[in-house]
Amino acid sequence: MYPVKEHIAKLLDSLPQGVRLVAVSKYHPAEYIEEAYAVGQRIFGESHVQELRQKVEVLPSDIEWHFIGHLQTNKVKYIAPYITMIESVDSERLIAEINKQCLKHNRVVDVLLELHVAKEETKSGFTPEELEVLLASGVKEKYPNVRICGLMTMASYTDDESLIDSEFEQASQFFDKIKTNYFAADDYFAVRSWGMSGDYPLAIKHHSNMIRVGTLLFGPRVY
Ligand SMILES: *Cc1c(COP(=O)(O)O)cnc(C)c1O
Repeated sequence: MYPVKEHIAKLLDSLPQGVRLVAVSKYHPAEYIEEAYAVGQRIFGESHVQELRQKVEVLPSDIEWHFIGHLQTNKVKYIAPYITMIESVDSERLIAEINKQCLKHNRVVDVLLELHVAKEETKSGFTPEELEVLLASGVKEKYPNVRICGLMTMASYTDDESLIDSEFEQASQFFDKIKTNYFAADDYFAVRSWGMSGDYPLAIKHHSNMIRVGTLLFGPRVY
């Protein structure tokens, strides 16, 4: 078996205080999650509703599940009862549906707005301009069962470190702007989720406080 425990311990050891680790367990079996759980890891990231539902059934109930993949509105109802955080919110339609489903379960769910800063067109998320429009339109007040806790972003998938560097810097500056303009009095708006296996040290340099790491902990995914 892949040495999950060693990898988790090593990574946690290297992280500055205040940086939280989302162990991205998508496409990996429940046994890998149990290994990580055994050394104290509690936050896991999944990107497919069906796979998440199967894992939730067999794994400990104190795991905090983060949804990190593209979420279709018609699937929100399946995860609304238990999801801890939805990091990949990329449309107002999705916010409205999360609000509706969470209202049914009488809960407020934490979300991150996905920011598109990467050069790559394939990445999803709001552009900075779209996010400004959305926030100025009063989403905060409109959807009381959704709590916007910060931003999530992915840098371009490239060897060009200076490009990744500038994308994370853009995300960091935009976070500060949004915080000042819309969430200055809200302590909960504090999550900067950027950094994956290949770029998390750079992300931390640009004020990330939540990294989403899969491959480095669990090995290559088998699709
Ligand atoms: C898969 C995934 C990750 C983890 O990627 P690794 O390179 O395996 O660390 C992080 N964030 C998101 C949104 C992902 O889909």
